[in-house]
Amino acid sequence: MSFTRRSFIVGAASGMSVLVLAACTDPSPAPTPSPTREPEVVPSPRSFYRSNWSGDAYARGATTYTAVGSLPQSRETLREPIDDRIFLAGEALSDDPGTVRGAVTSGRSAAYLALAAMAPGERIAVVGAGAAGSSAARVLVAGGADVVVVEARDRTGGRIDSNVVGDEFFELGAWRLDETVDGGVIDAARQEGVEFVPVQGGSAFGADGADAPLEQSTDDAVILAEALAEASAWALAQGEDVPVADAVREGVDLESWVTEGGPTSSELADQTLLSIAALTGADPGVLSSWFDVPAGGQSVVPVGPLSGFIDTALDGIDTALSTAVTVISRSDSGVSLRLATGESLSVDRVIVTAPVGVLRSDVLQFDPLLPVRYRGALSALSVGDIELIRLEFDAPFWDTEAVWWVRDDDAVVRMWVNLLPATGRPVLLGVVAGADAAALADLSDAALREAALRSLAPFAVQPTT
Ligand SMILES: Cc1cc2nc3c(=O)[nH]c(=O)nc-3n(C[C@H](O)[C@H](O)[C@H](O)COP(=O)(O)OP(=O)(O)OC[C@H]3O[C@@H](n4cnc5c(N)ncnc54)[C@H](O)[C@@H]3O)c2cc1C
Repeated sequence: MSFTRRSFIVGAASGMSVLVLAACTDPSPAPTPSPTREPEVVPSPRSFYRSNWSGDAYARGATTYTAVGSLPQSRETLREPIDDRIFLAGEALSDDPGTVRGAVTSGRSAAYLALAAMAPGERIAVVGAGAAGSSAARVLVAGGADVVVVEARDRTGGRIDSNVVGDEFFELGAWRLDETVDGGVIDAARQEGVEFVPVQGGSAFGADGADAPLEQSTDDAVILAEALAEASAWALAQGEDVPVADAVREGVDLESWVTEGGPTSSELADQTLLSIAALTGADPGVLSSWFDVPAGGQSVVPVGPLSGFIDTALDGIDTALSTAVTVISRSDSGVSLRLATGESLSVDRVIVTAPVGVLRSDVLQFDPLLPVRYRGALSALSVGDIELIRLEFDAPFWDTEAVWWVRDDDAVVRMWVNLLPATGRPVLLGVVAGADAAALADLSDAALREAALRSLAPFAVQPTT
């Protein structure tokens, strides 16, 4: 298997990690596209769904990241129990922030700390029924605690947002896993009958829409990790932390990947950074190149609701949905949770998995306030944005072998992933992240749908008849 410089950067920009190409499997029969690149009118989608994590009161953003000027030690500070009564947990506190596996690990670690502090038979509350909360609850129950889970939403899963509407299934939160590092989560979901399909096929590349040729790799693998490693190695040799954007632009030899008729080195840099934003939610202009460069591996997408493993973890555990906690009061003798329902809940200890954006807001308050170093640590973390737009069509109108496209202009949706090979359905997933995501929040559904379809026009190809 050979790696070309050209395909290498295509993979790096895709953010899809190692893309094992068409030689592997052919999960779904797909019409062969014609090579014609005449833009076609994009048909009306059968369905349109969007996320709105930045406007979500119980998320307040997508995931955390470390910005230049901050240190990841903030996460370690937050992991320390507060008077052995309050234990914080969640993706933000893990060494793998912004991931499901990080949230699971964090939830379990907090639960072990709480078990070490508790006397037999104590009652412990878990705030949040996402990946961290459900994992914590399961460990607590196994350790002999009397557990109650309190969740603000009317569903479990948190930022894993699995939806089933009619015969359609889709994720509007975590949507891909990395086969090399996410084995534990993948196995847990597989036990629920969820299969995973690699994001694979020929890589497609549309630099700026209709002008750009759609180039395809057909026989080689593409390695994100290596491209990012080049940027990372360069960054670590610098005297001070620099933004990932600088590390990619200055530390990666993009010129050597330029091919005739293809994107320029500056366009390649832009596309790489777009993908880093899609993985981290961060603006690469501020994301630390020392602490938060994402790693690469084989991307897989779930074919079935990812949240199933969370419900199984919570099986048999007292879980109150639609019950927001508004105030957490601690004393020497225990913890009291004030609920939005007007009731209170007294417990011995609490594990709090609410996202950082929520902990920094007035949605959830602490009485007394969290010690100042915890508040300092919370404010040192940055919260990034990722929004997803899912369109399902009656039939594909795009190059069905393409994995992804990017646009380097100011289109509202600049990155699209072709989920047809993975799901067997004519589905495109738009990923809008970092600074781009902020602009989305103000768009109505109709306006976003329209903008999304417009941004797809250059990628429409004439089907073979
Ligand atoms: C758009 C998007 C795409 C992503 N893509 C990926 C991906 O591809 N792969 C990956 O591994 N990760 C991805 N992530 C990150 C991943 O989803 C998260 O890291 C993980 O799910 C976080 O789990 P958690 O338990 O820490 O937090 P959450 O899932 O947010 O759980 C916290 C829970 O606390 C609840 N809560 C908040 N406030 C209160 C309150 N006051 N009272 C009671 N309950 C409250 C919330 O409703 C929520 O259910 C993505 C995230 C987003 C948003």
